[in-house]
Amino acid sequence: MPEGRRYLVKEMFGPTLQGEGAHAGRPCVFLRFAACNLECTFCDTDFSVEGSRRYAADEIVQRLLELDSNASRMVVVTGGEPTLQWDAPLADAVKAAGFRIHMESNGTRVPGGHVDWLTVSPKPRFHTGSLALANDLRVSEVKVIIDGTVDEVTLDRYAARYACDHYFAQPCMDDRYEEHLAKTIALVQARPRWRLSVQLHKILGVP
Ligand code: SF4
Repeated sequence: MPEGRRYLVKEMFGPTLQGEGAHAGRPCVFLRFAACNLECTFCDTDFSVEGSRRYAADEIVQRLLELDSNASRMVVVTGGEPTLQWDAPLADAVKAAGFRIHMESNGTRVPGGHVDWLTVSPKPRFHTGSLALANDLRVSEVKVIIDGTVDEVTLDRYAARYACDHYFAQPCMDDRYEEHLAKTIALVQARPRWRLSVQLHKILGVP
């Protein structure tokens, strides 16, 4: 088991369900890292450093195994932005424990360790400075959050950029949710390659 680095973790929880994308409804546990390199105005996730804790890789694995009481052996690695901390020693340790590793990233960085399923949810309008979307990502699915700024051309651009089998449009769950949901449905009707994703966990009240 690797030693040395201690990762800043906001929370680990489970058993729960993946709420979004192609694996929505699957039992899993969650590993949420603290910190992000973007500040999206619609962000609904607490990834702040306050209340987070540092863990060694073996401590993370031990906690994930404890949480995974139904032996789903699927972990959703998220944040914040998980690629800020994800590295080969931690990935290898989690993989060696038998977990299938799903990651949710904003697509600005190549993961530093193994990932079985990479979800990219690009938000380039919130990039600052020279930050760009990373090239050479092995993307499993793309998930675009639909608000007033996204249109069919946006979806076409992402479909051209990312070669994968799963493209999701997901309405932003802010105070204009009904409007965003209607727009998302219209967009997937106009671009049938894309599918509607909803935040199932929020709708069902699953943590
Ligand atoms: S990239 Fe994700 S976690 Fe980071 S600020 Fe944006 S919505 Fe929140």
